Amino acid sequence: MAGMPPGAEGGVIVEDAVIAELVAPGAQPAADAVFDAAAHVVLPGLINTHHHFFQTLTRAYAPAVDKKLFDWLVALYPVWARITEAEYRVACRVALAELLLSGCTTAADHHYLFPAGLPDAIDIELQEARNLGIRAVLCRGSMDLSTDDGGLPPPTVTQKIDVILADGERLAKTWHQTGPGAMSQVALAPCSPFSVTGDLMRETAAQAEALDLRLHTHLAETEDENAFCLEKFGKRPLDYLEDLGWVSNRVWFAHGIHFNQGEIHRMGKAGCCVAHCPSSNMLLGSGICPVGELEAAGVGVGLGVDGSASNDSSNLIQELRQALLLARAGRGIEAAIYSDPIRWATVGSARCLGRDDIGRITPGCQADLALFKLDELRFAGAGDSLAALITCGAHRADRVMVGGIWRVVDGAIPGLDLPALMAAQNEAARRIRS
Ligand SMILES: [Zn+2]
Repeated sequence: MAGMPPGAEGGVIVEDAVIAELVAPGAQPAADAVFDAAAHVVLPGLINTHHHFFQTLTRAYAPAVDKKLFDWLVALYPVWARITEAEYRVACRVALAELLLSGCTTAADHHYLFPAGLPDAIDIELQEARNLGIRAVLCRGSMDLSTDDGGLPPPTVTQKIDVILADGERLAKTWHQTGPGAMSQVALAPCSPFSVTGDLMRETAAQAEALDLRLHTHLAETEDENAFCLEKFGKRPLDYLEDLGWVSNRVWFAHGIHFNQGEIHRMGKAGCCVAHCPSSNMLLGSGICPVGELEAAGVGVGLGVDGSASNDSSNLIQELRQALLLARAGRGIEAAIYSDPIRWATVGSARCLGRDDIGRITPGCQADLALFKLDELRFAGAGDSLAALITCGAHRADRVMVGGIWRVVDGAIPGLDLPALMAAQNEAARRIRS
């Protein structure tokens, strides 16, 4: 059983959703049921810190392919505005299934799209997560700065501040659980400086304080965003957000690429976190997140697949390999060792979400585990099993446990008809494209 913490190569004892005990090599403790993981590499369940489930409907959308962020968004907003509940439910199931099958046990989604046909998007996401048994952190996103007021999105996908704040409060009261083992949580998440007013940013930060929720937004993703903020607000993005109450240990930013050293230092001092999304950053040509500098300054670093129109996949174990390669492409071999992405996708991601009960294989933590087999052609001849997961490019988990319950068995989700789900998704995608 590779991948276990030193001294615990004999396995784990799980009791009532929690890791009760680590087992020394050769020990044979009594248990009601035993799963033999001798052929597996075991990781803490992976934690995804940034996604947009709805975007699985617009993977490889021809008019947006090969465009950079702002042009890519402008090409996609009108298509997204046509999504209704029927398409959205399928998209959520697809994204969550893809994450689960790649070893993800906690999924954060940033949903900022509320067109006329989709008022209850977050409720749908949470229902779908419950059905699949995956932990979910749903970020109530928002946009209130339309093209009418100098923003990027059209008015068909923006909302008024009072509607946004009221819905955030309703969702928190309906779905937000606290304490160890929480299966559903709500965070507040205005979309970005170029689609949200300063008033909404400020009021959302105050609401998060009042309701004790975490805060999330996109920041420092592209140089275009820096230019937009300098022109519109006369400030760089982090200065702008700091003035609005957004630099604190309640916050995790998506991307965090284009910061200067002073900004990285300020974020570290405040205890901010960053959701690093390597595939998305490479596909959109946005830049390279300075993960080493961020961690050295005390900024928490987690991993995210980002939305499936900029990745275009929701495979979290593959993102670990991408993170390693991108760090080294940008800063050389010293930038990261192979196990760094495992830390980012587990304890680092847990910190982003404000959790200390997940992301580790240790007594008292939730029994969230991802088990991989090295029985594919790509692993043949591999020496170090743990390194092989990253460098040979693992892409699917064999077994996944969430809170002590197997949610993936033999590489499949019990009870989920995957061919039927794919057919429904293809049909839904066709509908909104036309
Ligand atoms: Zn994003």
